[in-house]
Amino acid sequence: MFNYADLLLKQRAYFQTGETKDLAFRIEALQKLGNAIREGEQQLIQSLKDDLNKSEFDAYSTEIGIVLEEIRFTLKNLRRWAKPRKVKTPFTHIGSKSYIYPEPYGVTLIIAPWNYPFQLAIAPLIGAIAAGNCAIVKPSELTPRTSEVLAELMKRHFPKEYITVVEGGVETSEALLNERLDYIFFTGSVEVGKIIMKAASKHLTPVTLELGGKSPCIVHQDANLKIAAKRIAWGKFMNAGQTCIAPDYIYVHKSIKEAFLTHLRNALTELYGLEPLKNMEYTRIVSKRHFNRLESFLSEGSIFHGGETSLEQLLISPTVLTDITWEDKVMDNEIFGPILPVLEYEQLPEVVTEIVNHPKPLALYLFTESNTVQEKILAHVSFGGGCINDTVYHISSPYLPFGGVGNSGTGAYHGKESFDTFSHKKSILKQTTLFDIPLRYPNVKNGLKYIKMVFK
Ligand code: NAD
Repeated sequence: MFNYADLLLKQRAYFQTGETKDLAFRIEALQKLGNAIREGEQQLIQSLKDDLNKSEFDAYSTEIGIVLEEIRFTLKNLRRWAKPRKVKTPFTHIGSKSYIYPEPYGVTLIIAPWNYPFQLAIAPLIGAIAAGNCAIVKPSELTPRTSEVLAELMKRHFPKEYITVVEGGVETSEALLNERLDYIFFTGSVEVGKIIMKAASKHLTPVTLELGGKSPCIVHQDANLKIAAKRIAWGKFMNAGQTCIAPDYIYVHKSIKEAFLTHLRNALTELYGLEPLKNMEYTRIVSKRHFNRLESFLSEGSIFHGGETSLEQLLISPTVLTDITWEDKVMDNEIFGPILPVLEYEQLPEVVTEIVNHPKPLALYLFTESNTVQEKILAHVSFGGGCINDTVYHISSPYLPFGGVGNSGTGAYHGKESFDTFSHKKSILKQTTLFDIPLRYPNVKNGLKYIKMVFK
């Protein structure tokens, strides 16, 4: 068993010097992080290609560029976010002023998954740095090249006692979780999320859990079908469906099902060609185990589109399954691959009932032109976040907190929310000494009467 007690001691001692809390230091660290990423860009693109066959376009747009943009946004706003904020003071506290001081937690642990192995390790790190913390990043063992490049880059630019990357698998995570940490930020599966929360409870460490689940996509009868099909095809099959907020399955209104499926097939051919397995830009499945799990779903329902596989290259073409019901195995858990089951409905309340009878989704997508339908779904279904008439796009706005609810996660990040997530809000009341209203003291004559008048 590894022992990270020494690393924790070093980070804690460094945190206690107060250096990381200094605003100028944080700004410099974020600039350094941006420069490190720009310096390592080609290496990162190559490692993402090696680990997942990600194209340069995907590597830049969904991993590197998105993170650089987050750094830029944070640098632009950090001075304002980091200031103690004056808030109102009630009449009952006359003479005093009230402030909220954001303060860093201390030593934070960021555990990342393999599907966007760079973005999901660095995006939380931006929040941790901005808030003034030290950080240990544990990337996924399933994307070893990217983890290695990440570790090298961080080592080159930051001292270990401030930011370090610890490579390794489950045992490494477990050993790190044995230590007392001040904050744990985890992105990964629901099952492991439960393990993380349990481990955190040992030291009462606060957590953010960015988990997964089955994210529904509803195509209503009045939707713009051509646009819906293209945006669904894009959101579902990017990264070969290995995206936490990819539409997991479609609920399409019976009256437009055939027309929608035709548009979907056209969109898939347009985006991935007639022979997707020969498309050099198409992301592969991360491991043989995941490939076998996904391939087993191909025998369910009917294959409307796709269904080609290559075990040798770990590729599965964008596949649409019809004649699927909730009894099929593909509907048991998050699919996390390029397989899209299509269910049909006649009445919207059926859809709502089915979705709310399952764990709360991380995302939900609804295609409709009707405001009433939009508001109905938003009012009746709880989910992390999502889009109306689009898929996945909400994740890249720094103004929208990103996170799950219930089974799909706890807490959120991106933009200011990342800064808030990694900051404790210390509430401070500054009291005057010019006078002392006696009402609160127990020896005041008729004190209770006055207090009752105040707290009506
Ligand atoms: P995972 O839960 O298997 O692994 C995530 C991380 O946890 C890895 O670094 C892994 O080494 C570590 N880990 C695994 N088992 C552990 C254990 N027993 N104890 C401690 N640590 C352990 O997830 P994954 O397969 O890498 O990623 C896929 C899952 O992540 C999907 O469910 C997906 O929906 C979810 N995900 C969520 C988001 C989000 O932002 N909400 C983003 C990406 C992925």
